[in-house]
Amino acid sequence: MITTEQKPPLNPVNVAIFVGLPLAALFLVPAWGVYSGYDASQWLWALAFLYLNGLSITGGYHRLWSHRAYEAHPALKWFYALWGAGALQNSILIWSSDHRRHHRHVDDNEQDPYSAGRGLWFSHMGWMLREYNTNEPDFSNARDLQRDPIVMFQDRHYVALTVLMNVGLPLLLGIWHGDIIGTLLLVGLLRLVVNHHVTFFINSLAHFWGSRPYTESNSARDNGFLAFLTYGEGYHNYHHIFQTDYRNGIRWWQWDPTKWLINACSRVGLARNLVRVPDFKIQRAILDTQFQRARDQLECSQDAESLRATLEREYQLFTESINAWTTLQAQRYEAKKAEIGGALNEKKLKLQQKWDSVALRTKFKELEYSLKMQHKRLNLLMEQMRLQAQAA
Ligand SMILES: [Zn+2]
Ligand SMILES: [Zn+2]
Repeated sequence: MITTEQKPPLNPVNVAIFVGLPLAALFLVPAWGVYSGYDASQWLWALAFLYLNGLSITGGYHRLWSHRAYEAHPALKWFYALWGAGALQNSILIWSSDHRRHHRHVDDNEQDPYSAGRGLWFSHMGWMLREYNTNEPDFSNARDLQRDPIVMFQDRHYVALTVLMNVGLPLLLGIWHGDIIGTLLLVGLLRLVVNHHVTFFINSLAHFWGSRPYTESNSARDNGFLAFLTYGEGYHNYHHIFQTDYRNGIRWWQWDPTKWLINACSRVGLARNLVRVPDFKIQRAILDTQFQRARDQLECSQDAESLRATLEREYQLFTESINAWTTLQAQRYEAKKAEIGGALNEKKLKLQQKWDSVALRTKFKELEYSLKMQHKRLNLLMEQMRLQAQAA
């Protein structure tokens, strides 16, 4: 058992921020509520600040700077840098470097700074309270960020910026509103603490609670409820396998306000080159996971010869689809090259190429569809296995 003596020393600044501030909020916010009360406008301001901070972390720190899931206009980057500083989760440079390490070494207790393997508490905020080796800054994975003047400006002036956003702005609002203490407590303190914990859920709960439809190779989970609390980041299983996708909730109905924000920005020229993983690759990941699960289940059951044969037949079809897709990709690449190579002057050639590209698209769609159907068949097969296991 690890004793306190063996643990690295506490980090006093972080303890003050992550233990002191929540305790202060716990006592002061209700006390002022009883003594003086808050009005609706103060609650609304707190909510607005919560979303401005939260989306700057998820849309800026996370999807833009850590994963390069799209490119942003400098105006949008400044917006993220300022409101992100207001979230008090360290500078973009440090946050993103840590996060890239988290992805690269996910669940590795020696290298992932907030490895879920070290427990729920550690991955939530325990990792920040002590001087763990895994917190040592190493920017060798963030050279691109060190070349970004906005990132470096924010890193240099981080303390001033975070004080301005957390104390300065709420103070100004309070003066304008008339209740300085109440506004500081609600828009400053409570909003900060709530935003801390909902973002920390992504490292903690989203690695423990939920489903794993895309991969079982790491602990990340998909959880719609957590997505609601975390500005869309709760589809964490998807995110860990396709980290460069600007979306985390890939279906239109999945709650992902960060995705909607980036999309809206792209429509008004503030964002471009949004990365979307092709549907086929997503389907392939789902099926891969399903096959693995089905095989594991069959391994434990006896008298399942016919099911085993069906599964292998399905796997054969799956491999054929993947091969067909790879061939089509190569064809598309060749077609693109020919297009760039010129020879487009003749109308006839142009029409031929158009026909080719439509034919190619149709084939892609057919393949996508065949994987979707296979996904359904595998679901039925798994159901059959469950029934057989129950009967046995
Ligand atoms: Zn994660
Ligand atoms: Zn990430």
